[in-house]
Amino acid sequence: MSPARSALDLLQTVFGYEAFRGRQGEIVEHVANGGDALVLMPTGGGKSLCYQIPALLRQGCAVVVSPLIALMQDQVEGLHQLGIEAAFLNSTLSLEEAREVERKFLSGQLKLLYVAPERLLTPRCLGLLESAPVALFAIDEAHCVSQWGHDFRPEYIGLSTLHERFPEVPRIALTATADAATRREIVQRLALEDAAEFVSSFDRPNIRYAIVEKDNARRQLLEFIEREHEGDTGIVYCLSRKRVEETAAFLNEHGITALPYHAGLDAETRARNQTRFLREDGIVMAATIAFGMGIDKPDVRFVAHIDLPKSLEGYYQETGRAGRDGLPSNAWLAYGLNDVMQLKDMIESGQAPEAQKQIERQKLNAMLGLAETTQCRRQVILGYFGEQSAPCGNCDNCIKPPTTWDATDAARKALSCTFRTGQRFGAGHIIDVLLGRETEKVKQHFHDRVTTFGIGRELPEAAWRSVFRQLLAGGYLATDSEGYGTLHLTDAARPLLRGELELHLRGLPEKRKRDKSERDKKRSAASLDIAPADEPLWQRLRQKRRELADAQSVPAYLIFSDATLKAMLDARPATLSDMAHISGVGAQKLDRYGLAFLDVLHGAD
Ligand code: ADP
Ligand code: ZN
Repeated sequence: MSPARSALDLLQTVFGYEAFRGRQGEIVEHVANGGDALVLMPTGGGKSLCYQIPALLRQGCAVVVSPLIALMQDQVEGLHQLGIEAAFLNSTLSLEEAREVERKFLSGQLKLLYVAPERLLTPRCLGLLESAPVALFAIDEAHCVSQWGHDFRPEYIGLSTLHERFPEVPRIALTATADAATRREIVQRLALEDAAEFVSSFDRPNIRYAIVEKDNARRQLLEFIEREHEGDTGIVYCLSRKRVEETAAFLNEHGITALPYHAGLDAETRARNQTRFLREDGIVMAATIAFGMGIDKPDVRFVAHIDLPKSLEGYYQETGRAGRDGLPSNAWLAYGLNDVMQLKDMIESGQAPEAQKQIERQKLNAMLGLAETTQCRRQVILGYFGEQSAPCGNCDNCIKPPTTWDATDAARKALSCTFRTGQRFGAGHIIDVLLGRETEKVKQHFHDRVTTFGIGRELPEAAWRSVFRQLLAGGYLATDSEGYGTLHLTDAARPLLRGELELHLRGLPEKRKRDKSERDKKRSAASLDIAPADEPLWQRLRQKRRELADAQSVPAYLIFSDATLKAMLDARPATLSDMAHISGVGAQKLDRYGLAFLDVLHGAD
């Protein structure tokens, strides 16, 4: 590649993209000119190009530090598909294969070399890097250096040595973790004090956020998938391994291909399931949060949570795995009273020191705030990350503003019944008392004689569960530290009880009628919007992509992303030079696959 080629030229010819996105252009220029950079961009924002293009512009080979050995092969394969010389060094290579990569590096054949941090810091590897020109160091998933963050990797700490051993080589650290504490720690631990910081908006406008009240999570999940995501790739996050297994089994029983992923599975099964998820179309992964970092599959159409996440940071990172290709995608969460109880109990009965518990409470409260809000969800999320925004028009609350009702009276009844029964019981029992149910437990504790027995008959049980959930989320009630889920009043409850405070809560849960017309409706606005008449051609394009991918044993999205196939479908290029203008069709892919797809588009295949 001649050094005279400009960054934009490379973007267009090699990657096949028309223009830089957001701050990509500035970042590329800064690093290509030898500057250090800290890049904060949301998942799917396009971080890879920020070091790949400078790698092509600068002399020598770029070294990319990545914690995810299992994914390096696909990353390198993606570059090969673009005609870029790249390789990786990690423990999956045999000694001979590693020697071969080293030889290529020394002879200057490589433009990018991916290395795991523990490998990079060995004397042998550092010695290797000193023997041939290094274009730059890219430190991907840079938040792994932070003990404050949630993915701390001790191996990352040693990376500050790069600065000392290679003072002339620019370094670019990249992460999708936004919070200020993590950012400060990255700067300090990687000695990036002089680096330029590029902070992008964390908004992901193509993701539609929706949070629903849980009554039967699995059933609701199934309806959601059938209604909006038939045949789509998705991830379903669950809190426990058991829930993961049950959910995967349930979806399979209902004709949706689902696989489990959690830390309790052996490494081989995990790797096999991950590979199938990446390579096949339309697999749903039921997983714990152990799944996902570094999964850069661009066409994940939905991320569902059937249990409440513990923090907004975690939730946003997980949902960010939807729609990296920029096409419409859904983030869907079902949550209810039990989630709140369970997470609060986990914190209170946990072994963590008080200071840690305090942090966990704050994080959970922010998540609860999002779940309960009647405002635009995106405004709340972005606000949490310090970003101001207008109502988005693409979340459940914007699309169908929730109703609120004056729940002052109901809340007082709930609080007073909690008090009258001695602040030693869980919500289920207190609701029985409110509804005047003469259960064994009610009789055993003589709760049919308390003044609040039966004072709540005007509301159905589901409404009471919603009231208790919101009182817990709002901090009027708290769980104790024994882990039995018993509730007591907090100081915040007093003004409510004394009638000094009004409480307006989200709408009463309606019994959800299964609306037939809803299911028959064509795919929702949040999916790809393929006209029915185009559906057969769309399927043939995907089929062609599948064949080409299988022949090389690579993931389908490395051939072309959904966004690129959709652009072909919409534009119907007639010739190779038309095809070259489709976003995502660079020179090498045009060469290798252009004709095959033209044939499909024009019925010759
Ligand atoms: P990140 O690492 O920030 O999560 P990626 O680098 O994987 O994001 O990019 C996400 C998707 O966006 C990829 O499919 C990538 O090819 C695409 N992309 C990146 N930059 C551009 C651009 N300037 N124009 C069009 N597509 C882009
Ligand atoms: Zn909104």
